[in-house]
Amino acid sequence: MKDNQYDVAIVGAGIVGLALAYAAAKKGQKVIVFERHPRAIGASVRNFGLIWPVGQPAGPLLDRALRSREIWLDVAAASGLWLNQNGSLQLAYHDDEMAVLRDFEREAGHAGYQTRLLPPEEAAALSPGIRSEGLKGALFSATECTVTSRQAIPQITAYLEKQLGVEFHFGSAVTHVESKCLSDFYEVWRAERIFICSGAEFETLYPKIFRESGITKCKLQMLRTAAQPNGWELGASLCAGLTLLHYASFAPFDSLSAVRDRYAQENPDFARFGVHVLVSQNSFGEIILGDSHEYGWDVSPFDSEAINQLILQYLRSFARCPDMEIAETWHGVYPKLPGQADFVVEAEPGVWIVNGLSGAGMTMSFGLAEEVV
Ligand SMILES: Cc1cc2nc3c(=O)[nH]c(=O)nc-3n(C[C@H](O)[C@H](O)[C@H](O)COP(=O)(O)OP(=O)(O)OC[C@H]3O[C@@H](n4cnc5c(N)ncnc54)[C@H](O)[C@@H]3O)c2cc1C
Repeated sequence: MKDNQYDVAIVGAGIVGLALAYAAAKKGQKVIVFERHPRAIGASVRNFGLIWPVGQPAGPLLDRALRSREIWLDVAAASGLWLNQNGSLQLAYHDDEMAVLRDFEREAGHAGYQTRLLPPEEAAALSPGIRSEGLKGALFSATECTVTSRQAIPQITAYLEKQLGVEFHFGSAVTHVESKCLSDFYEVWRAERIFICSGAEFETLYPKIFRESGITKCKLQMLRTAAQPNGWELGASLCAGLTLLHYASFAPFDSLSAVRDRYAQENPDFARFGVHVLVSQNSFGEIILGDSHEYGWDVSPFDSEAINQLILQYLRSFARCPDMEIAETWHGVYPKLPGQADFVVEAEPGVWIVNGLSGAGMTMSFGLAEEVV
C-alpha cells in the first residue's frame, strides 16, 4: 500500500515552495510538493531573475537576502543552473540622485552592503549598455546575481526530485487542508507540517485569513528583447533614478524627496503606473526589461501598450543595447501585504501560510525558508 505520510507537505511549486522543500529536504525530511498547474507558471518564472540584496533595508532583511544569495550559489553549484554574479549599477544622471547615493554610501559599509561609488568613466567600463551622456556617477553593488527564471525554476524542481528525493505532484490542486491532512479531491495525504505557498492564487485555501490580512495583489508589465547579436554582454544589471524611489534601502534618506518631487513634476505617469526600470540579461543573451505596478484584487487581465512605452521611454534615458526590438511582452502578479516584507502565519496547528514576498521572492525565499523550517 502507498505510504501517504510525510514530514512536510507544500502547496505551490513557485520559488517559495521550492525554497521550503530545499530547506526541509536538506534536514533529511520526507517532502511532497503539490502544484495545481502542469508546471509552475506563476510569478517565479515571470520575473527578471534578479537576486537583489541591495534593495533590502539594512538589518534583518538585508541579512536574510545575503543568506539567500549564499544558498542560491550552493543550489546553482549542486544543480548546474546558470547563475551570473554580475553585480548591479544604480546610475545617477541628476545631482539629487547623486545626493541619495552619497547618503546611502556613507552608511553602507557598516550596514553590510558591498557597494562603492564610481565616477562615470569607471561605471561605463562595467557595462556597454550604459548611456554615458550626462552620467554623474553610479553605485556599484557586488552582491546582485542573475538567473534565467524560466529555466531555473524547472531546474531546481528536477534537482530537488532527483538528488534530494522530494516528491512532486503537478496538475494537482489542493482543495482542502485540515488536521494535518490535505487533499486534491482524489486522494488524501498526511504531513506533520504543511506549508501553503500559493502565491497570488491565494483564494482557494484559508480565504478568510487572506481576506482579513489586508493582503493585495500587484501586477507588473514586462518586456524582453531577442538574444543580443554577437554575444553582446550587458555586464552588471542596470537601473537608474526611479529605482531609488522603489527600494526600501534608500527610503531612510531625506535627500530622496527631491528625486520624488522632480520625477512627479517631469512625468507624473511614472508614479501613476508605478514605473521604474530594471535591466537584466539572461543566459540566452536576451535583455529583460520592466516594470510597472498596479495594485488590487482585480488587477486588469489586459496589458497597456502605453505602459510598455513608458518603460521603454525611461529605459532609453539611461541604457541601450544593440538590438532593442521587443520579442515578447507579458505580465506577472505577486501578492503584497502593505508595510510587511512577508506574510507568515500559522493558519491552524501545523499548517503555515508562507506568502507575501512581494517583489523580492527570488531574493528572499531561500533565506526565509531556512528561518521558517
Ligand atoms: C514581473 C515580476 C518581476 C519580478 N522580479 C523579481 C526579481 O527580479 N527578483 C526578485 O527577487 N523578485 C522578483 N519578483 C517577485 C517574485 O517573482 C515573487 O515574489 C515570487 O515569485 C513569489 O513566489 P511564490 O512561490 O510565492 O509564487 P508563484 O511563483 O506564483 O507560485 C505559487 C504557486 O502556487 C500554486 N498554487 C496556488 N494555489 C494552489 C493550490 N491550491 N494547489 C496547488 N498549487 C497551488 C500556483 O499554481 C503557483 O504555481 C517579481 C515578480 C513579478 C511578478
